[in-house]
Amino acid sequence: MKRYITPTLQISIGILSLTLSIIFIAYSLGFFPDEEKAALEARAKISETLALQLANLAGRNEADAIKDTIDAVVGRNGDVVSMAVRGEDGKLLVGSRDHDSLWVERADGKSTATQVQIPLFNGDVPAGKIEIVFRPMAADNIFGMPSSMMGFVGFVGLTGFAGYFLILKRALWELDPSRAIPERVKAAFDTLAEGVLIMDEREFVLLANNAFVRDLYQSSKSLVGVNAGTLPWAASGAAAEAAGEFPWQTAMHVEQPVLGIPMAIRNPSGESRRLSVNATRIVDGRGIVRGVIATFDDVTLLHRANEQLNTSIQELHSSQVKISEQNRQLQLLASTDPLTGCLNRRTFFEKAAQSLQRAVGQRQSISFFMVDADHFKSINDRFGHVVGDKVLAGMADVLERSCGDHGLVGRYGGEEFCIAATGLTAPDAERLAERIRRAVADIATWLPGGERVTISIGIASLGSTPCELADLVKRADEALYAAKTAGRNRYVSWETIRPPTEAARPGQLARLLAGA
Ligand code: GH3
Ligand code: MG
Ligand code: MG
Repeated sequence: MKRYITPTLQISIGILSLTLSIIFIAYSLGFFPDEEKAALEARAKISETLALQLANLAGRNEADAIKDTIDAVVGRNGDVVSMAVRGEDGKLLVGSRDHDSLWVERADGKSTATQVQIPLFNGDVPAGKIEIVFRPMAADNIFGMPSSMMGFVGFVGLTGFAGYFLILKRALWELDPSRAIPERVKAAFDTLAEGVLIMDEREFVLLANNAFVRDLYQSSKSLVGVNAGTLPWAASGAAAEAAGEFPWQTAMHVEQPVLGIPMAIRNPSGESRRLSVNATRIVDGRGIVRGVIATFDDVTLLHRANEQLNTSIQELHSSQVKISEQNRQLQLLASTDPLTGCLNRRTFFEKAAQSLQRAVGQRQSISFFMVDADHFKSINDRFGHVVGDKVLAGMADVLERSCGDHGLVGRYGGEEFCIAATGLTAPDAERLAERIRRAVADIATWLPGGERVTISIGIASLGSTPCELADLVKRADEALYAAKTAGRNRYVSWETIRPPTEAARPGQLARLLAGA
């Protein structure tokens, strides 16, 4: 909506009102001459003079002379409307025309500003009175001022208003911040797609281009003269917050431009726009900082796209983590025995084959163990399968703990386990087997009544008798059988029971090793 009362007009009216008030106050304090008082004094003087003259003429009974004097005074003195001499009996003795109709007899017999009566005496005896009717006093205006004064006030009012208005208009034009930037420059900035603010050294906006006002701030109001810091910057970027000042404030005291500061502005409809702000100071010819020019790139869409991308990356990452976990679980399920948690037979032999290959490559020793629970069928029969299962899980645990990093433990099947232990000499392997046997035999908690479980172990070591994995398994199995036959609860090394022909018949691996 267009404003009809401009600030210039408002201020002019204000100053004029003040001026008129001062005049009225001055008047009421008596700084102006009181015309009415002066007029009354003049009338009193006229009345006195006339009274003396007429009394003189009346004393000499010169009626004609009195009439002439009255006519002359009424004719010459514009202030006097009529005059007459009235006898003591109330009869008009001599008077000007229309006096009777103009005179209003007052009950109190006192004079007023417009009707003056002066008593006449014959010696000491009242002989009548002189009556003078004056023109009414100038009518007062509403403020109790004479009309001549009102003319003065009117003059001051009109000329004052015109003067104030013109001076103010000129002064405000001089002070108008928008004048600091020429129109041509403004038009040039309006063609830019990015928002531009030019501020003076106190942050007051001298120019805000169309892209800033219309597109970013979405306002129809001019921002010229507004302090840039008071605009609704919303949740300004981390960098701006860390510095504790706006980028244009920073730019004011650094020589280099301040670039790419993230900020946000909330427009009147409450929508927040993300901005990337660059600011550089404006220095005059003498090197004095005169202000700052700041540009505002709307990066809202870019920011949103970035956020979406980040969300997608996070989702992708978490689903990757889930998939990895599921894969791990699947891998575990596929590679381990569900009852005992140790490697299942297939995985054990895959890994054992790799271990054997590595051991051969690195000329390390490797031993293969077959472990079997003694009379396990009877354990199941006497205590039930649940107890049997508990024993199997406990056995796997003992085997794994005993081997540590040296070996792989797998469930060969039923109540049989196998171990592939690398880096152990044949005596080391036997010591390990004995440790395992004793550890199992020492456990009194698996079976009711503290009854113990015993195991038998068959050992086959690579080294003195090179062979393939299948050969090792077979030998360990033969050794286990020997242990069972010998009475169980013991270990037996295949080396101690091997038939003499085996050593003379090297396997494929031994042939390989021999060729290396
Ligand atoms: P030996 O001393 O000669 O080894 O006799 P044994 O009874 O231990 O051997 P045998 O092969 O006769 O019996 C093995 C038993 O192991 C038979 C079977 O019921 C039991 N068994 C196999 N798998 C499981 C299992 O997963 N859980 C339970 N509780 N028992 C099993
Ligand atoms: Mg068995
Ligand atoms: Mg058994």
